[in-house]
Amino acid sequence: MAEHESLEFGKADFVLLDSVSLEEFMANLKLRFEKGRIYTYIGEVVVSVNPYRAMNIYGRDTIEQYKGRELYERPPHLFAIADAAYKAMKRRNKDTCIVISGESGAGKTEASKYIMQYIAAITNPGQRAEVERVKNMLLKSNCVLEAFGNAKTNRNDNSSRFGKYMDINFDFKGDPIGGHINNYLLEKSRVIFQQEGERSFHSFYQNVPIVSSLIVLIIHSVPSFDPSQSSINDGADFKAVADAMKVIGFTPDEIQTVYKVLATILHLGNLTFGVDGDTTLIENSKVVAVIGVLLATKEENVEKALLYRTVATGRDVIDKQHTTQEASYGRDALAKAMYERMFCWIVGRINDVIEVKNYDAKVHGKNTVIGVLDIYGFEIFQNNSFEQFCINYCNEKLQQLFIQLVLRQEQEEYHCNDILIPCFLSAWLQHKGIFSVLDEACMNVGKVTDEVFLQGLNSKLAKHAHYTSRKLSPTDKSLEFDRDFRIRHYAGDVMYSVVGFIDKNKDTLFQDFKRLLYNSSNPVLKMMWPEGKLSITEVTKRPLTAATLFKNSMIALVENLACKEPYYVRCIKPNDVKSPLLFEHERCRHQVEYLGLLENVRVRRAGFANRQDYPRFLQRYKMISEFTWPNHDLPSDKEAVKRLVQGCGFEHDVAYGKTKVFVRTPRTLFCLEEQRDEM
Ligand code: ATP
Ligand code: MG
Repeated sequence: MAEHESLEFGKADFVLLDSVSLEEFMANLKLRFEKGRIYTYIGEVVVSVNPYRAMNIYGRDTIEQYKGRELYERPPHLFAIADAAYKAMKRRNKDTCIVISGESGAGKTEASKYIMQYIAAITNPGQRAEVERVKNMLLKSNCVLEAFGNAKTNRNDNSSRFGKYMDINFDFKGDPIGGHINNYLLEKSRVIFQQEGERSFHSFYQNVPIVSSLIVLIIHSVPSFDPSQSSINDGADFKAVADAMKVIGFTPDEIQTVYKVLATILHLGNLTFGVDGDTTLIENSKVVAVIGVLLATKEENVEKALLYRTVATGRDVIDKQHTTQEASYGRDALAKAMYERMFCWIVGRINDVIEVKNYDAKVHGKNTVIGVLDIYGFEIFQNNSFEQFCINYCNEKLQQLFIQLVLRQEQEEYHCNDILIPCFLSAWLQHKGIFSVLDEACMNVGKVTDEVFLQGLNSKLAKHAHYTSRKLSPTDKSLEFDRDFRIRHYAGDVMYSVVGFIDKNKDTLFQDFKRLLYNSSNPVLKMMWPEGKLSITEVTKRPLTAATLFKNSMIALVENLACKEPYYVRCIKPNDVKSPLLFEHERCRHQVEYLGLLENVRVRRAGFANRQDYPRFLQRYKMISEFTWPNHDLPSDKEAVKRLVQGCGFEHDVAYGKTKVFVRTPRTLFCLEEQRDEM
């Protein structure tokens, strides 16, 4: 018996459970985890549980076992999904995407890397040099993006602090010829503040030796960190990143500029402001001199940008002095903006080299795409703010898409009207309302506070079943007046504090900084800040708010995914202590529930486990029937398949479409496979 049928390891597909209940689902998930079987299917969806240990299941030999095979022929694996997406793309010319979801530490990024490695391994049999170059770039880009976009958090030593969607483009031969990366909402506040036990982005630690050699001053702001306490090896990672940047084609000047930006940010962290009478001043002016050198601009320009802002009043342009508070705000905004801008610039530079150029579809055939989405999962923290709101909004959008694409499609395709799609997403649409109240609050002239925003929410959403606050539920003591609101998300209730919403949404960076950076004599830095070209009187447009930018990027993302054939990987985190042995029942149950996995099984059971076109089905199984082996004399392949299925006694489990045969349960497929093996 093939391993994926053996009961010792539980059911390889949740569709095979004797009855669909949460208990049975959990028991199977736990059994498989304990037996080291971290992947399980729900039809074509892979459920993955983070093993928190090295697994010997990603090597060359395993890749060979999955290459070109059908999903149910081998034990569940990411490679099987990657292969299915690849086959759909290659054989049917379909654009496909693989959506990887799950909470922080569940294993999304690792999964996305294995998927990319698989695709790299099975393509380019002809060893074309250009294709090898592209593959190498695509793989190397991960390393660079992780260095600048990932950080140690209390949940994950290598937590992605940005969302990532990567397209891989293929030519008509099915070989990768390029790609494109979209990045979403980098958590830039991490540059100036980290929770206890957390770190800033890896890049700051990896580059300490270089960054400190660039400058004379001692950097106080690199927190001391004992590498033995974690899985992070900054020194080794530094070499890998430096190498990857070189391979991708970053010039020495560009790499130097990256180090200089990192050093500048660390120095900004050391800047303090004081007052002398009516004058705001910088207390440690030596730091300003260093920043001037790093940014290739005059010391006095740096000082002026930190202490004053240029304002246009009618026809006059005046320099208005900051209070110490404003100056500190400006300094932090500068540090965050420089990091974020550099990150986006790095992504842009990678795109420059990996993007498909000179592809003529008329000559080369259609250029098809596999997209891989690795994006932050649903978050509930002790203290939830604007960032969590955006992230959770994103997850609702993706969950809604999942329902639309997987569940609805299935229902429509087979007219199974008896299944009810759960309504747990009824809430999401209304969250749009929160973004617009927030934008409205930010548009107000005069004093806008977070409390005003909360009042706006209270009046606009008072009747909303999924929104509450202390004003609307006076007895709920967990909510503070003037501070908290609670949203019922599909994945659970989250209490948000409005503190900082307005600031984070406006995301103001004084124009003076943009001009300072644009006027640097370092051309790379100048390139990162093109808008600094405008003088104060030319800047008229109010920049879009962070919420609007994010919302627009999510709408574009969902539209992009919706027109592709989707494959899903649903990642589960088994415990909060990174243990390979512990399956925390409650933690896992919660994830199973909010990922909607049980509904997924129900719909899938009512639908069909597998569909194949007639010739392909025959090709695979014709040897098990005397009517079809070695060839059939029936009028069509469809008739031949019917005959074959009748002979095996599976008619009850099979439906015949126009061009495809549908098999309801994987069990039947396993039986067919077994009979085939016995031949
Ligand atoms: P975040 O949302 O914070 O970015 P994530 O879902 O991307 O989290 P990963 O970084 O992929 O999580 O995984 C966290 C850690 O779990 C990894 O650093 C690794 O130690 C372990 N891990 C995840 N998947 C696997 C795997 N398949 N095999 C072995 N270890 C794994
Ligand atoms: Mg990640």
